[in-house]
Amino acid sequence: MNIHEYQAKELLGRYGASVPKGIVAFSPAEARAAAEKLGGSLWVVKSQIHAGGRGAGRFKNDPGGNGGVRVVKSIDEVAANAEKMLSSVLVTKQTGETGREVRRLYIEEGYRIQRELYIGMLIDRATSRITIMASTEGGMEIEEIAHRSPEKILKISIDPATGAQTFHARQVAYGLGLTGKQIGAATRFILSMYRAFTELDAQIVEINPLVLTDDGDILALDAKMSFDDNALFRHADIEALRDESEEDPAELEAARHSLNYVKLDGNIGCMVNGAGLAMATMDIIKLYGGEPANFLDVGGGATRERVAAAFKLILADSKVEGVLVNIFGGIMRCDVIADGVVAAAREVNLNVPLVVRLEGTNVELGKQILRDSGLPIMSADNLADAAQKVTTAVAQATEGVN
Ligand code: ADP
Ligand code: MG
Repeated sequence: MNIHEYQAKELLGRYGASVPKGIVAFSPAEARAAAEKLGGSLWVVKSQIHAGGRGAGRFKNDPGGNGGVRVVKSIDEVAANAEKMLSSVLVTKQTGETGREVRRLYIEEGYRIQRELYIGMLIDRATSRITIMASTEGGMEIEEIAHRSPEKILKISIDPATGAQTFHARQVAYGLGLTGKQIGAATRFILSMYRAFTELDAQIVEINPLVLTDDGDILALDAKMSFDDNALFRHADIEALRDESEEDPAELEAARHSLNYVKLDGNIGCMVNGAGLAMATMDIIKLYGGEPANFLDVGGGATRERVAAAFKLILADSKVEGVLVNIFGGIMRCDVIADGVVAAAREVNLNVPLVVRLEGTNVELGKQILRDSGLPIMSADNLADAAQKVTTAVAQATEGVN
């Protein structure tokens, strides 16, 4: 689960990492009030969306204008920019073409920056450890640094038995070329960040940039945190930070029905039970020249309602030009699946080819239900047959259109 920058900063601040003062705002009036409360002479108006690259991003209604992070010198400018940014759609490298509507802003005190650094922590699956990554090339995306100058990324792997120690943090500080009192400040920052990472069950914490200011301070000007969904049950306060308007509506709907759904780019929708079978189904669709539109595992004990919800979810994707239902009825009975599919197909006015491969408990009864439905459902006997039927049907349907 992802959270907004201002929420991540609030959490990191609680652990002792230094962050600028700031106040969230949902309207231009709130933005003005926030700037007044913060005082000072330099403010930053920051779009809060769950995507990076905001500074270099552009608003759809003002492509030649300023980006999603604006440094301004007066309270009037804070309000004027807030007015323009709120409710506008921001497109960044990470949002894709569609962009994201900005619904909240973070009004933050502005700093005069001397150097921008990068520091990130993540779980490295290869070593099963938390890895600290640091670079002097702050402000740039880490993927870009990795591509252009991989030698500029310092990586330190932390043994979970000891956790991050002062010497690890100092190693990072020296690696970044820090000197004097910056070393102590960076060390404290890194250890606070590590404690937040582990205690909050984070998946990624990324500070880009971590800056050295003109006054010699070190602080996080940007912060990204994402959390392990499987550990959220023990962090009700983090779960409460969820912003559903930032999440994919289809994935939210899937979560509501306990379906494991991941949207992909292809045109063949898949409904399968079991993650392994779902992967195999995707593979075989590709083998026959098709492209899966999604990964969807309805689980072992799905009900008729859940199957119907899954089916509707697949068809809600406008790219879907054919559907393959592939169910092995072990715990689940094939007649229940058939009932769900028929009910959903009727409800959504099915208008794309549907291939169903059922196997297992009550398979004959399931097939009978499909036949009796009067719906144009193609039955398949095995995986290969199913994949071949659906890819051929989709190819024929699209040929007919063109
Ligand atoms: P993003 O990574 O989404 O573009 P950032 O929060 O990193 O957003 O902001 C982009 C850039 O704006 C930063 O690299 C930094 O140069 C500048 N910036 C961000 N916050 C401040 C601030 N409080 N004071 C001064 N400059 C800032
Ligand atoms: Mg950034």
